[in-house]
Amino acid sequence: MSELSQVLKQATGVVAARGEGVQLFDEDGRRYLDFTAGIGVTSTGHCHPRVVAAAQQQVATLIHGQYTTVLHRPLLTLVERLGEVLPTGLDRLFFANSGSEAIEAALRLARQATGRPNVIVFHGGFHGRTVAAASLTTSGTRFRSGFSPLMAGVHIAPFPDPGHFGWPVEQATDFALTQLDYLLQTVSAPADTAAFLVEPVLGEGGYVPANERFLAGLRERADAHGILLIVDEVQTGFGRTGRFWGGEHFHARPDILVTAKGLASGFPLSAIAAPAALMAAAWPGSQGGTYGANAVACAAAIATLDVIADERLVANAAERGAQLRAALQTVADKYDAITDVRGLGLMIGNEFRDAAGKPDPVAAAAVQQEAARRGLLLLTCGPWGQVVRFIPALVVDVDEVDEAVGIWADALSAVL
Ligand code: PMP
Repeated sequence: MSELSQVLKQATGVVAARGEGVQLFDEDGRRYLDFTAGIGVTSTGHCHPRVVAAAQQQVATLIHGQYTTVLHRPLLTLVERLGEVLPTGLDRLFFANSGSEAIEAALRLARQATGRPNVIVFHGGFHGRTVAAASLTTSGTRFRSGFSPLMAGVHIAPFPDPGHFGWPVEQATDFALTQLDYLLQTVSAPADTAAFLVEPVLGEGGYVPANERFLAGLRERADAHGILLIVDEVQTGFGRTGRFWGGEHFHARPDILVTAKGLASGFPLSAIAAPAALMAAAWPGSQGGTYGANAVACAAAIATLDVIADERLVANAAERGAQLRAALQTVADKYDAITDVRGLGLMIGNEFRDAAGKPDPVAAAAVQQEAARRGLLLLTCGPWGQVVRFIPALVVDVDEVDEAVGIWADALSAVL
């Protein structure tokens, strides 16, 4: 008898049969509030009727128009539509299927465009699981161990994480930029450095926002040395943080933007965007793939953009995010074990620490599991798994936020 490999670690035991908005139903018809959104993917909620209709229509018209063989209308339309939401100047697009693949595409482009080998990443960042993407990932050894050698040419600078250092954000930012300069002086010379790769909010690394001065510091150094700034918006993009791109909070000006997850409401689709002059440095044929820009995924992405605009989902993420954060903070104030509630928009983490101030993944997992038993699906994140994160679909409403926080409070009082 065959079985699913244990290599997948399950966050819940739920067998999902059906999804609708922020709700999932298991095979017995039990309802769950899904505050995982497929790890931030189902931006318009499960099975939004307009996404379903667009995908169904596309399935009946053309499923796979292989994009290095033929072009297709959903792809061409999506390119135009993304032009309306991408930062000015990032007007050349390449598509793949997953975040990891898009990160690798950005890496390939940066190396080709600069002729330089190295990438500087920021400690705690998560950029994917394929071997090159895992080499760029520093949010946990679980993503890197046991399959060395990893890709060479990756250097790690500090991320300005106030909670980790126990410093105010200004001090953490000074330290991060000073160490970056030290790294450029002592380890990876600017002339050998193709790119900085950064998340606007550390995602898997624990929902830690960057800040404006840090990103301005990266931009300044990038401009001074001809280094490219790659902003990984895989988790923070498409309205998740209450702005269309997470980097907007900090006036980030990427040379290459990477997007995936929320882009197609659950269909596998990812993309990188860069200015024409930069993209022109990539050799034709050096990027591609069998499934990239699948026609059904592109149709779903177009519908996703329509829904985000028509239902004001970016504003909803900001408003419901503020509601959720305030309510979670009120709950956290009752427990010494929750030492921080943080994040942007609908990307909020609750950090658990023990009495000695050490990260407490045991408590985090216990509450996450109890919440699941009580009908609220959540995920953990952070290097130790010490953070429980809330990432509902952007369609979440006032009552669903209240209901989720009620279950969270009950789960905490049952476990702690
Ligand atoms: N970058 C970030 C910021 C992510 O959050 C993720 C996925 N969690 C990835 C890259 C990798 O995406 P994928 O799992 O689709 O390869």
